[in-house]
Amino acid sequence: MLIQAINLTHSYDYTLFKNISFSLDSSETLAIVGVSGSGKSTLMHNLATFLKPQIGEVKLFGSSVYELSEKELNRLRRYKVGIVFQSHYLFKGLSANENIDISAILSKQIIDKNLLERLGISELMEQKVTHLSGGQQQRVSIARMLSKKPKIIFADEPTGNLDAKTASEVMDVLFEYVKKESAALILVTHDRVLADRCDIVYELKNQTLEKLV
Ligand code: ADP
Ligand code: MG
Repeated sequence: MLIQAINLTHSYDYTLFKNISFSLDSSETLAIVGVSGSGKSTLMHNLATFLKPQIGEVKLFGSSVYELSEKELNRLRRYKVGIVFQSHYLFKGLSANENIDISAILSKQIIDKNLLERLGISELMEQKVTHLSGGQQQRVSIARMLSKKPKIIFADEPTGNLDAKTASEVMDVLFEYVKKESAALILVTHDRVLADRCDIVYELKNQTLEKLV
């Protein structure tokens, strides 16, 4: 079991979700759909170790995230967890190339040129990320994330800025990566066609995950 969510509950002004439980094995993909404001991003922050749920527990690779030391948690984030969230968190002053390099160096991996080719960004590696379009930045952040060879990928609307054809090609890359590396993918999307390419599809609705597929 790569990831296990146990009774997750989180509220802000109102309860977003309660008692959410699920698990995911290696090579499995899971999609979460749901209307804006339903709490999808909050749930992703819970799952990806960035936000402790008010109730419940997340286990990654069999260990409770909250029982790890700071050092173990950092190691997990650096080597094993890949994140692409809505805001890209690219280093703004740097080029696309430098952004990807940093990630590869930190995780002691080598950049796969073929990956850049497949994502359609190999021609723009020297440009500052601030000069790239939203869709290009999105693909750079996906390349950066994959360059560290993560075992679990959390992707929150990773193709939201892309046209349908490019989105589909980018998702091909992600799905192939998951199978090849026996990783796992949790994908938040509002695109039901994209969601249906995952093994399991949930809708975050009525404060819980309802199984669609
Ligand atoms: P989704 O990703 O499904 O659109 P979010 O998880 O981003 O939903 O947000 C769900 C609700 O929680 C929204 O109403 C949002 O305003 C609220 N919310 C999200 N983050 C915070 C926060 N840090 N503090 C207060 N309210 C928040
Ligand atoms: Mg969101």
